[in-house]
Amino acid sequence: MTEAKSREITLLQEELEQERKRASTDPLTGLANRRAFTEALTHASQTTGAPGELTLLMADIDHFKRINDTHGHLIGDRVIRFLAQVLQQNTKGKDLAARYGGEEFIVMLTNTGLRGAEVVAEAIRAAVADAKLVRSDNKQPLGQITVSLGVASYHPGEDPLETINRADQALYKSKQSGRNRVAVDMDISGIQLTRIFHK
Ligand code: GH3
Ligand code: MG
Ligand code: MG
Repeated sequence: MTEAKSREITLLQEELEQERKRASTDPLTGLANRRAFTEALTHASQTTGAPGELTLLMADIDHFKRINDTHGHLIGDRVIRFLAQVLQQNTKGKDLAARYGGEEFIVMLTNTGLRGAEVVAEAIRAAVADAKLVRSDNKQPLGQITVSLGVASYHPGEDPLETINRADQALYKSKQSGRNRVAVDMDISGIQLTRIFHK
């Protein structure tokens, strides 16, 4: 192969890699997008053994519409990026945080059971609730921003979309019971219980 040809191949490989990255990244936050997350979760679920090794967190910003209505979409976007940062700061190694939808996020925690995931979820909740965000343009405080979270563990053998579904139901319960809290799906022997946890 000529040198020129081999350079061309390297370039094409780099472009392909960049394209792959673009296709799996959310442009606003730099986190994984929903598609990349679902792929990674499917893969992790196929390699996980014992129950409680793989746990999901879903997080949704509370009353986000109000934030947009009061401060505008650009500030809303900044708040979304702030939450993405908090998620990244609270995850490590093989964990994966992703933007699942508009102001909704999902995190996959590996080698982590419900109890450990609840601790992570509570740390995220508290970091957001305690942050004092100020607009950089007019120094106006944004006021308290909160998130609600739902936690559920993968049950070996199930479709991982079912785990997402249970995390989402737990999130819904945490919204229903007042927001700014963590709800844990405690599906034991087919009986679905949710434990709501808040300070
Ligand atoms: P809840 O506490 O029940 O979650 O209330 P909410 O207002 O957060 O929920 P709702 O689903 O009614 O509103 C979500 C809003 O998020 C509506 C939509 O305009 C806004 N949104 C979705 N994606 C983006 C985005 O990328 N940027 C901004 N600024 N807003 C977004
Ligand atoms: Mg919301
Ligand atoms: Mg939402």
